[in-house]
Amino acid sequence: KGLKKHFDVTRKIFAKKKDILKAVDGVDFIVKKGETFGIVGESGCGKSTTGNMIMRLADPTAGSIHFEGKDLSKLAKNEQSKMKKDIQMIFQDPFSSLNPRMRVFEIIAEPLRTHKIATGKELKQQVYELLDVVGLDRSLAKRFPHEFSGGQRQRIGIARALALRPKLIVCDEPVSALDVSIQSQVLNLLSKLQKDFDLTYIFIAHGLPVVKHISDRVAVMYLGKIVETAATEELFKHPKHPYTEGLLRAIPVPDPTLRSLDSGELLEGDLPSPVNPPSGCHFRTRCPYANEKCKAEAPKLQEVAKAHYVACHYPLQAGRGVIMEHA
Ligand code: SF4
Ligand code: MG
Repeated sequence: KGLKKHFDVTRKIFAKKKDILKAVDGVDFIVKKGETFGIVGESGCGKSTTGNMIMRLADPTAGSIHFEGKDLSKLAKNEQSKMKKDIQMIFQDPFSSLNPRMRVFEIIAEPLRTHKIATGKELKQQVYELLDVVGLDRSLAKRFPHEFSGGQRQRIGIARALALRPKLIVCDEPVSALDVSIQSQVLNLLSKLQKDFDLTYIFIAHGLPVVKHISDRVAVMYLGKIVETAATEELFKHPKHPYTEGLLRAIPVPDPTLRSLDSGELLEGDLPSPVNPPSGCHFRTRCPYANEKCKAEAPKLQEVAKAHYVACHYPLQAGRGVIMEHA
């Protein structure tokens, strides 16, 4: 609710004024139990920072995060430790998130020991079962992370995240570092685990294709704000924010006869600095439809169709590239 994370990035010398990086700048969303909520945007849009705040790896500058009705910043000590079990994270780079000096057995056993869930035989049994669940052979428990492929390492990361039987897993670009062929295997595994263990996912990705099949709903972020959110199918069929439309057009089309739809042109230009974002609508420097109103006034996220929210003064109308007459 109203989630913000601002960083003071003022240089110590020669500073004329304070430079505040607004990594996350007023984000609201609800994730429903059992669903996968995708968060998509270019690097620097604030999606990982949002995930980190949910994990309590970063403190919000403003706003609040509620889990099962409780404000995470106001939990009593015993509730905090329970919440740590309930919310787990899977990281982008399975290699750097696994301790290279620990054997796989210890990596997966660590959370079980820390939270005093199992010891001895029982611990061993649980670690082996977790390896089974993610499709890794039990004999691999003795090995070190560097002895595995990227996809296998991500399976180890998933096993560790599952060890505490969480309810919610924040998946921060879990397949971005993997080959395309391996990506779908890991995505299929995550889908299966979601059903088997009643999991809820927040799935962070930098492109729309990855979230298409795994997410029930998607939020698109741009420079610290959500610009559009809708059910996945609705978002792909009827994008209403020019940025979402640009992201969709940037997806390569396998059928060459469809290429005549001008591809990718919408997202020309670099992402502006989040330290001094453009006035009004942050997307206006890259938006083909921008006008004076966009420069003067920041659009608010509004419901334009059932459960479909967009922050744009001129939401796109049905069908790609067809836009309402500008005022
Ligand atoms: Fe483009 Fe204006 Fe909409 Fe921003 S508010 S996305 S600049 S049309
Ligand atoms: Mg990131």
